[in-house]
Amino acid sequence: MESNGTMAAEGRGSSALIFLGTGCSSAVPNVMCLIQPSDPPCRVCSRSLLLPPDQNPNYRCNTSLLIDYCQSNGKHSYILIDVGKTFREQVLRWFTFHKIPHVDSIVLTHEHADAVLGLDDIRAVQPYSPTNDIDPTPVFLSQHSMNSITVKFPYLIKKKLKEGQEVRRVAQLNWKVVEDNCEKPFVASGLQFIPLPVMHGEDYVCLGFLFGEKCRVAYLSDVSRIPASTEYVISKSGAGQLDLLILDTLYRGGSHNTHFCFPQSLETVKRLCPKRALLIGMTHEFDHHMDNEFLSEWSNREGIPVQLARDGLRVPIDL
Ligand SMILES: [Zn+2]
Ligand SMILES: [Zn+2]
Repeated sequence: MESNGTMAAEGRGSSALIFLGTGCSSAVPNVMCLIQPSDPPCRVCSRSLLLPPDQNPNYRCNTSLLIDYCQSNGKHSYILIDVGKTFREQVLRWFTFHKIPHVDSIVLTHEHADAVLGLDDIRAVQPYSPTNDIDPTPVFLSQHSMNSITVKFPYLIKKKLKEGQEVRRVAQLNWKVVEDNCEKPFVASGLQFIPLPVMHGEDYVCLGFLFGEKCRVAYLSDVSRIPASTEYVISKSGAGQLDLLILDTLYRGGSHNTHFCFPQSLETVKRLCPKRALLIGMTHEFDHHMDNEFLSEWSNREGIPVQLARDGLRVPIDL
């Protein structure tokens, strides 16, 4: 894979996917590995303080994707999937590096902390108005997420000011509930999204998304099982082969009750058979260089290119 510098200079006139974060909820480095180091120390986390984050593909913020969507008239729209705990740091690192001027719409997979707790900081990427008199940013989310966010962020749900109440500047958001149903697409900033309900633990439905007309991309950031009706929509043996699958993988080995780990992720890639796959959501068990070498061999053997994504990776793609 090319360096960020090279990739950032290319393909400005077309759409691109920018990986703002590729890590798990606790992010990488895991702070426990630094404040209570094991003997020997964790390979991945112990090195994280020696390298600047932009030179360290093992420095991973919460999983999030920015779609730089270039419409046929050449206008760019910026669609953000998930706004986690580390959103501010991701803006500092990658909005500046990739020259992302603002966010046009937000799409949420679910309401866990690593997907929504940066919502307060959305005001930082909105135009300034002392009276909050700006166009609110649309946020697409499930009814379940809406219910949860109403409790987590009551002040971000638009209410009329009471008599005598001061204006306080908060993010201006326009909440749009979508159905967790593959048959009910919605449009965000001109791009159509098909919701992909998946299990994130057997008691919890999380949304993935299928988007892109010219290249079909599926994004599944938090998944422990893909129901058959969703799998049909995104598999080569079902409704058609994906150009790119972006898929959850939490731990290097074993299994987990709410996420795919490496063995299940690779098995899923084989079954869905996309043209290419990138893995996201990794803990400190993954070493970017070592595991991508392993994946290169796996890819040669299986005929499907798969790599771990990294924070800041920009993938030009025709949507
Ligand atoms: Zn560690
Ligand atoms: Zn989650």
